[in-house]
Amino acid sequence: MRKVFLFLLCALAAAPRPAHAAAKLNVVATTEDLASLAQEVGGDKVSVVALAKGYQDPHFVDPKPSFILSLSKADLLIAVGRELEIGWLPPLLTSSRNAKIQPGAKGFLDASLNVRILELPTGQITRAMGDVHPLGNPHYWLEPGNGRLIAQAIQAKLAELSPADRPYFEQRYADFDKRLAVGEKRWDALMAPYKGAKLVTYHRSWPNFMERFGLQVIGYVEPKPGIPPSPSHTLELIDEMKRQGVKLIVVEPYFDLKTPQSVASQVGGTVLVMAPSVNGTKQATDYIQLFEYNVNLLAGALKQATGK
Ligand SMILES: [Zn+2]
Repeated sequence: MRKVFLFLLCALAAAPRPAHAAAKLNVVATTEDLASLAQEVGGDKVSVVALAKGYQDPHFVDPKPSFILSLSKADLLIAVGRELEIGWLPPLLTSSRNAKIQPGAKGFLDASLNVRILELPTGQITRAMGDVHPLGNPHYWLEPGNGRLIAQAIQAKLAELSPADRPYFEQRYADFDKRLAVGEKRWDALMAPYKGAKLVTYHRSWPNFMERFGLQVIGYVEPKPGIPPSPSHTLELIDEMKRQGVKLIVVEPYFDLKTPQSVASQVGGTVLVMAPSVNGTKQATDYIQLFEYNVNLLAGALKQATGK
């Protein structure tokens, strides 16, 4: 009986999409950033759902029954990968019973495979002390060059799933690429005066972003990714910030501001809440607006801090 069921499941999964389906491809993205890029490329040929909301910590997402329903209907699942979703996605995928989107299947896209990944581990990989970045830094979407590469991978995957729409996806990608390039010029110009500026971030969310704009992160409020602040680490951080004259602390919207604010008051500095994801703040309505928001905010804070 079980075999028959599995067979039916596979047969259903393998069935071609019916021709009458002006049917859109059902795309599920694990984050709003990937959802925004999928929407850019897929246009009105896709229906996109994001699981984690942009104001949530993407490492720790409360699974909802609606996630399973979305996954069960999906033609394509786009994941951040690098184990960002390891704490919540695998059981949802199993419950979805959707063979099309399991890792390794045609309808699964790991967006991390063709981008620039920083902080790749050397030596033995261990979860000692609860490190949540065991396979390199998974916040790689926070760099427009990587966003372009993710959009390219999505374009190729959508064309593979819906070959007749390939020219449409190519045209959508080309248009996004152009608008992103215009944005990049503006963001690079806004950040140019602050090359080499030093700051602290709460979580290691920003290595790609800071590298892109030539900023230097000298410490973190978390002792390790995923580990809450400890008194001894906080004291060390304050000492280091004083020693190097660093006054800016960037915090993701889902962390408690108490420790960052107390550090800031000790060093005469400022706390800046930046949006690590689309819809992490209401102005960051899509992937391009995410950078528009963060770059303007950070350049403004650096201008105040440096007088440049
Ligand atoms: Zn992280």
